[in-house]
Amino acid sequence: MKPDPRFEALKAEIVSCRRCPRLVKYRESVPLTRAYAGQEHWRKPVPGYGDLGGKLLILGLAPARTGANRTGRIFTGDASSRFLVSALHAAGFASQPMSESRDDGLVYTGCYVTAAVKCVPPDDKPLPEEFGNCAPFLDAEISLLPNRAAVLALGSHAFRAYLRHLKREGGDVRGLKFGHGATYRLADGTTLFAGYHPSPRNTNTGKLTRPMLVSLLRRIRKQLG
Ligand code: SF4
Repeated sequence: MKPDPRFEALKAEIVSCRRCPRLVKYRESVPLTRAYAGQEHWRKPVPGYGDLGGKLLILGLAPARTGANRTGRIFTGDASSRFLVSALHAAGFASQPMSESRDDGLVYTGCYVTAAVKCVPPDDKPLPEEFGNCAPFLDAEISLLPNRAAVLALGSHAFRAYLRHLKREGGDVRGLKFGHGATYRLADGTTLFAGYHPSPRNTNTGKLTRPMLVSLLRRIRKQLG
């Protein structure tokens, strides 16, 4: 597919952003883990990736230290990415079950994947003002998804970030509560799904299992037709 010049311009703007001093410092200086010592690291903001014509938007919280901040592509190169992309492949949204590097050949069909905050935060905890600083990028990305019919928010922080997006758009978010599998038909005709984040904290403890995530993704796929 031909690159969308508006998306390419947005990506360039995101990647060069230095609006949050705390996050700029962290992304550029966070120590490497021993496993990746000696490898070149991305250390810049990470835009979304996927099918701009897709009906599903998948929203995470932020790049991970050994994942997207290292590899430069969202949900790429760490345990969370492997768990998510393997499930996306099983549900028919990803061309392959692995996501290891920007040039590994992964193609999403029918979904676009991004994060509410584009820079890796210390302890996976962006500050409220950092969510706010990055919100215009999220809004701009979403505006470039003309066929968006469903959103899957991974984790309660991403869920709340999406509710704030809806509020900025004038939507009514009363009564929308996070829970794995929670599903809400919104006034704009889209459906909001919530799911546990595929972090090792959730997957290693069994709070989120692969069958749970695959089942949720297949349900979404079925609804989207
Ligand atoms: S989190 Fe967003 S707004 Fe803040 S520096 Fe990174 S890209 Fe810019």
